[in-house]
Amino acid sequence: MPQKTLLLVTVGNPPSTLVNSLQEPLATHMGVSAVVSRTALSSPAYAFNKDRSQYHCNAIMRRLGTLLEDAPQELVMGVTDADLFVPDSPFVFGEADRESKVAVMSLYRLRQGAEGEALRRRVQVEAVHQAGHLIGLSYCEDARCVMFFPQTPQDCDRKQLGPCNVCRNELNRLNR
Ligand SMILES: [Zn+2]
Ligand SMILES: [Zn+2]
Repeated sequence: MPQKTLLLVTVGNPPSTLVNSLQEPLATHMGVSAVVSRTALSSPAYAFNKDRSQYHCNAIMRRLGTLLEDAPQELVMGVTDADLFVPDSPFVFGEADRESKVAVMSLYRLRQGAEGEALRRRVQVEAVHQAGHLIGLSYCEDARCVMFFPQTPQDCDRKQLGPCNVCRNELNRLNR
């Protein structure tokens, strides 16, 4: 199978240096060719929930899905500054749906207590994690594995950028 491509789409105004910094780790650790889309989505007012003052992942993901061009190996991931939620959680760092090939991730919560290089690493860890879900990996119980479910930004700091051996074997099978 040809290599999967991941279209990175800015949603709102995440710093372009951070978005650009995702390409290399996504290629190295998930084996996808990531490209930053020229299409940028504006701040997602349509996804705003007034009661929570947060943005609903699903609404943003639906819009991101319209950018897919129906190529079999294509995936899309939005990168936003907006504070994201899904109904059952107080917040999420990101969300991915393998079926629709769409993910979204946010810098909002990752910024807490980090800037510069530390923030960049967190953003990279989260991007690799969501790309893993898009390819078909599920959660991992190894706290150092990139597929571990993080509940705090510090959980992201403890994770490696890449998958554990078990997840790597599964990834190789999925990417074959
Ligand atoms: Zn996850
Ligand atoms: Zn793992």
